[in-house]
Amino acid sequence: MRRLAVLGSTGSIGRQTLEIVRAFPERLEVVALAGGKNISLLKEQVAEFRPRLVCAELLAGGEGILGASYLSLEEIASHPDVDLVVVATSGKAGLGPTLAAIGTGKTVALANKEVLVMAGEIVTAEAQRHKAEIMPIDSEHSAIWQCLRGEGKKGISKLILTASGGPFRLSSPAQLAAVAPEEALNHPTWQMGVKVTIDSATLMNKGMEVIEAHWLFDIPFSQIEVVIHPQSIIHSIVEFIDGSAKTQLSLPDMRLPIQYALAYPDRWEGPFRQALDLGKIGSLDFEPVDLDRFPCLKLAMEAGENGGTYPAVLSAADEVAVELFLARKIGFQDIPALVAKTLDRHQVISHPSIEDILAADAWARETAKAAF
Ligand code: MG
Repeated sequence: MRRLAVLGSTGSIGRQTLEIVRAFPERLEVVALAGGKNISLLKEQVAEFRPRLVCAELLAGGEGILGASYLSLEEIASHPDVDLVVVATSGKAGLGPTLAAIGTGKTVALANKEVLVMAGEIVTAEAQRHKAEIMPIDSEHSAIWQCLRGEGKKGISKLILTASGGPFRLSSPAQLAAVAPEEALNHPTWQMGVKVTIDSATLMNKGMEVIEAHWLFDIPFSQIEVVIHPQSIIHSIVEFIDGSAKTQLSLPDMRLPIQYALAYPDRWEGPFRQALDLGKIGSLDFEPVDLDRFPCLKLAMEAGENGGTYPAVLSAADEVAVELFLARKIGFQDIPALVAKTLDRHQVISHPSIEDILAADAWARETAKAAF
C-alpha cells in the first residue's frame, strides 16, 4: 500500500489523481489532502477518502473537517505517515512542500511546473543529497522518463518535446494580436486548468517544460528541442547517439502519466486504459515551431539557458501577464512583450538561494504590473 499526500487535490491534476486512487483502493491510500480555494470540493474529498491529515492553511476561523489533523503544506509533505507526495499545487505554492518532502527523503510526484522552473538547481541538488526521487507528472516528461528506462545517460543525444501547438497553431500574427480569452481557453487536445491552458496557447507552457526537462534529466539546453505535433499522440521523443529514437504514444489523457508515477516501477491495468487505434487516427503530423509567432517559447528557453533567477522572473511575469490578459487589460501578444520587458530589467543572481528566488519572484510581479 502506497500512502499518498495529494497537495492541490481540488485542481485538475489533484482530481484526476484521486480518480486513480478510487480505481486502485487496494494499492493506494490517501493519508493527506490539501486543497486550494475550493473548500466545498475539499470537504467532499475528505468525506470520501477520510485522510488523517488535511492542510489547514485555507481553513482559517476554526472551521473543522471531519476530525482530521490540520497541518501546513510543509508539515504534510514531510509527515512520517506519507510515502509519496503528489505536488499538484500551482505557482510557487509547491516549492516549500517539495523541498520539505525531499528533505525527508520522500518520493515526489511533481505536477507543479514552477517548482523546477523557479528552483531547479536547488531542488535537484537537494533531491540528490537526500536520495529522494522526483517523478514527473506531465505527459512529455513521463514519455521521456518511460523512454529512458534501461538507457544510460551517455547514450542520449537529444530530447525532443512535442507540443500540440495550441488553438492558434495556424493563426496569422494579426489574428494572434486579436485573440480573446475565451478563444485561448479552448485547447484542441487537452483539458487543463486555466493558467496552463493559456500558457499552452502562447507556448510558454512548452518553454517551462523545456526548463523542467533540463533539470529532471540533466540534459543541456542545447540538446533539447521542441516540435509541433497537433494530434498529441506522441508525447515526446528521445534520440540516442547511434541515431535511434524512442517515443511513447497514447491518447491524450493525463490520468496515464499520473498513474504511471503512482504505479512506478510497475504498470497497472486500469479502467482508464484506451486502445490506441492508429488506423482510426490515420496520420501523425509534425512541423517546426515558429518562434516569431510564439515568442514565449524563445523567452523561456533563453531564460532557462541564462539560468539563475531569470526563470523565476519569467514565471512570475508570465503569471501577471496571463491575469491581465484574462481580465482583458492586455492583448494575447502583450503576454510575451510584458514578460520580455520584465526579464530585460532584471539584475540576475547566478546561483540564487530560495530567498533570492522568492525575492526575484516578488520583484518580477511588481515590475510586470508597473510596466503594463
Ligand atoms: Mg505537458
